[in-house]
Amino acid sequence: MPFTPDLDASQRRQVEQLVRRAGTTCEVCGSEDLSCDDRAVRTMSDGISVRLFCNNRKDHADGVVGTEQPLFALEQNDAHRIGII
Ligand SMILES: [Zn+2]
Repeated sequence: MPFTPDLDASQRRQVEQLVRRAGTTCEVCGSEDLSCDDRAVRTMSDGISVRLFCNNRKDHADGVVGTEQPLFALEQNDAHRIGII
């Protein structure tokens, strides 16, 4: 199966919808305002995953936007539908 890790804006929106549907929140502040990175990664254990970043600046002690989150694993059929594999 081809692996196309580069995500365009529309693919990122689709991933972010999946993230919200899964109820994933920032592990630091609990915000649902998470953005998807523009590159998917393939890991041995979880298959296709994406890196997420929190957009909530005010509840992070260091005030940094883009606080990195753990990898979010995509279901294989979702990754296929979005066009990553
Ligand atoms: Zn956060």
